[in-house]
Amino acid sequence: MADQMRCLLLICDGMGDRPVNQLGDKTPLEAASRPNFNALSGGGVNGIMDPIAPGIRPGSDTSHLSYLGYDPYSCYTGRGPIEAAGIGMDVRPGDVAFRANFGTVDDGMVVKDRRAGRITEGTGELAKALDGLEIDGVEVIFKESVAHRGALVLRGEGLGADITDVDPHEPGVKIHESQGMDEASKKTASVLNQFVRISHDRLGELSLNAERVKNGMLPANIILPRGAGILEPTPSFLDTHGLRGAAIAEVGLIYGVAKILGLDLIRVVGSTGGLDTDLEAIGRSATDALEDHDFVMCNVKGCDIAGHDGDAGAKKDFIEGIDSMLGGVMERAGEHSLLIVTADHSTPVSIMDHSGDPVPICIHGPGVRVDDVSEYGERSCARGGLGRFRGIDLINIAKDLMDMAEKFGA
Ligand code: ZN
Ligand code: ZN
Repeated sequence: MADQMRCLLLICDGMGDRPVNQLGDKTPLEAASRPNFNALSGGGVNGIMDPIAPGIRPGSDTSHLSYLGYDPYSCYTGRGPIEAAGIGMDVRPGDVAFRANFGTVDDGMVVKDRRAGRITEGTGELAKALDGLEIDGVEVIFKESVAHRGALVLRGEGLGADITDVDPHEPGVKIHESQGMDEASKKTASVLNQFVRISHDRLGELSLNAERVKNGMLPANIILPRGAGILEPTPSFLDTHGLRGAAIAEVGLIYGVAKILGLDLIRVVGSTGGLDTDLEAIGRSATDALEDHDFVMCNVKGCDIAGHDGDAGAKKDFIEGIDSMLGGVMERAGEHSLLIVTADHSTPVSIMDHSGDPVPICIHGPGVRVDDVSEYGERSCARGGLGRFRGIDLINIAKDLMDMAEKFGA
């Protein structure tokens, strides 16, 4: 039997864009010097892809789920479980999970600051005071994340996630009482309301907060959870596709998706999640991971950040950085590898947020029907042999080219 084909899926977060006036009506990708992107397109098959469906504005989490072959409309109920998994928490089917902030409230539970003065130190100690509580038979698991952020997991029988937020999302407003929409969610809301009150009682007593107040800082005296979601039982990537998968990412949200699907998580030294990240090191880890995995998903974050900042020049520069990384990746990936390069959504600098525009995609490797496209870009790829398709179909296309697809019918 011939060597099993491997696949590397490189996802440039938020790379898709719209024509930018200051770039001569080119997109940042089209304006960038990108010899390796273009070589990839010239030797591969190209197209454009709707990450979820035409016109739907994707989150990074829902689009990654879709590319991995999981319909986000059936398995995604909120950002909470993915955030919690992304910071290394053990989230199990049936758990209700939340993103959370350390915040500041006054004695009347009116929010003074949703981020506790952007607290940076000591949140681990604060989290410990809350982790492991039990409320009405429900286990409370709480862990700090970066800066003022954390995640909350509630574990118990018969919990629902259809509840309203406690976090009022603005200062000067009293925290809300969470309401449940159905019987199971009412139970969750009741536990959550008690948890928030307990968090205020316990955090307020800690010496760390007394110290903060003495130094003129806001105390982190409450937890403000939001974005409840319940983890649905989801078959692993290996069970679903028969592929040993690995993920390289720069942010917790993407690691969260990967962890929930059972991919191996690879951390890269020098990866920062910012525009200053070590792209070379990321590219090297990605091709190294191909040696003992069938499928490697690699996300680089920079384009999305520049897009949210509305900075076309920074976005173009970062794309040029990805281009040099791509050169090395193409060299090392070898001839038994399928290389797929795309974005998880567009983050146009003119919008400074995600848009529903389709993204360019190129598939390069043995067996692909090389088309006439010789430039990698939003418009040029649209003329390619893959036409326009949805993200949920990507894994099937990849498996077919890897000779891993099961025949449907006789
Ligand atoms: Zn994204
Ligand atoms: Zn974004």
